[in-house]
Amino acid sequence: TPTAHDDVARAYELDRRHVFHSWSAQAKLDPMVVTKAEGSWLWDGDGNRLLDFTSQLVFTNLGHQHPRIVRAIQEQAATLCTIAPSTVNSARSEAARLIASHTPDGLDRIFFTNGGADANEHAIRMARLHTGRQKVLSTYRSYHGGTQLAINVTGDPRRWANDTASTGTVHFFGPYLYRSAFSATTEAEECERALAHIDQVVALEGPSTIAAIVLESIPGTAGIMVPPPGYLRGVREICDRHGIMLVADEVMSGFGRSGRWFAVEHDEVVPDLLTFAKGVNSGYVPLGGVAISEPIYRTFAERPYPGGLTYSGHPLACAAAVATIEVMEEERVVEHAAALGEEVFGPGLEELAGRHDWIGEVRGTGVFWALELVADRKTREPLAPYGGSSPEMAAVLAACRAEGLLPFANFNRLHVVPPLTISAEEARTGLGMLDRALTRARSDA
Ligand code: PLP
Repeated sequence: TPTAHDDVARAYELDRRHVFHSWSAQAKLDPMVVTKAEGSWLWDGDGNRLLDFTSQLVFTNLGHQHPRIVRAIQEQAATLCTIAPSTVNSARSEAARLIASHTPDGLDRIFFTNGGADANEHAIRMARLHTGRQKVLSTYRSYHGGTQLAINVTGDPRRWANDTASTGTVHFFGPYLYRSAFSATTEAEECERALAHIDQVVALEGPSTIAAIVLESIPGTAGIMVPPPGYLRGVREICDRHGIMLVADEVMSGFGRSGRWFAVEHDEVVPDLLTFAKGVNSGYVPLGGVAISEPIYRTFAERPYPGGLTYSGHPLACAAAVATIEVMEEERVVEHAAALGEEVFGPGLEELAGRHDWIGEVRGTGVFWALELVADRKTREPLAPYGGSSPEMAAVLAACRAEGLLPFANFNRLHVVPPLTISAEEARTGLGMLDRALTRARSDA
């Protein structure tokens, strides 16, 4: 009989022979085998237990194998695995009701997609048809998804190889005080100048040509730059002045990650369209969607919406969403996330910054934190270049793994984004691992 070791070896061998991975030079990959996962922990192919400070791609918001979500999927599978999107299904109806009960006021109609990229594609299509305009504005430091339009709207380097056709997308600078595009020195200054900048971009692009401004309410993979108070409100005002739709991409920031149900709540802003995915059902079954305002809904009340998906509102995915949201409500997961940010991650990461001069800045909220690693605190030279890596960053990641911590890295940044259900004690354990890993990587460098 094959041993567990044989299973691991066979899975790895078949992966390398047949599985084509995302965003990678295939022949250079050495992917980790995962044999088991539970809560905030997972086990690699060598039997090592790792604390998951990534929530994978920031989606297992309730951790791995949550019994309520697993049971909901099992029960739905036993009842009705799947059904066409044109039918009524109780899991889908209930998921839409629960999602709409937490989205900002007036965003009560839910279009379901398979993930975040197609949610943004559909939001943009709705904005274009609603306004009769084509152009879409978004920030350089953003990620909106891997499909053609979503990757063109994206600002980060994953866009570069995909910028092959004119798609009517225009990029601008969002607020980012640590590396201010506006030479600002305070949050208030950064906010004011970033708003003046976008105001000017809108004027020069032609307000009457712009369908939408697409913004991550808190940019995620691009660096968790929590916008200064008033920024999102300012963008909302610019949109209102010109009849531009505000699309809030809450694929990563939504469903509690920022310590609120949705990150737009920090600035009391109601977008015209809000996109979600990931945390909506902890990623147990692929699901995304668009929450739609009443005026945009009315555009498609009498005239058909020209878009759809075979699996829109898939019952297994929706049953997982219902269980996820019920657990979040009953176990006060969003409040827990906010408290972890204030009591554990905020002070804990600042303490690390006091001990490690590679940490140039700590920023974040809830369970959504970034450490900006720099070679020199004065010049703020990043520890790896924009769009690239470095031996120092590789050493930090290797040291984290050696300490039993799975870290999320992007260029010169480490993101601390574990499940929202991580306990304060586990979170402190992880910060201790990170502390030792930084010490070890520094002494090896
Ligand atoms: N928008 C944001 C903010 C994201 O972080 C992501 C994924 O990381 C996406 C969109 C794309 O989502 P998906 O990979 O489900 O298509």
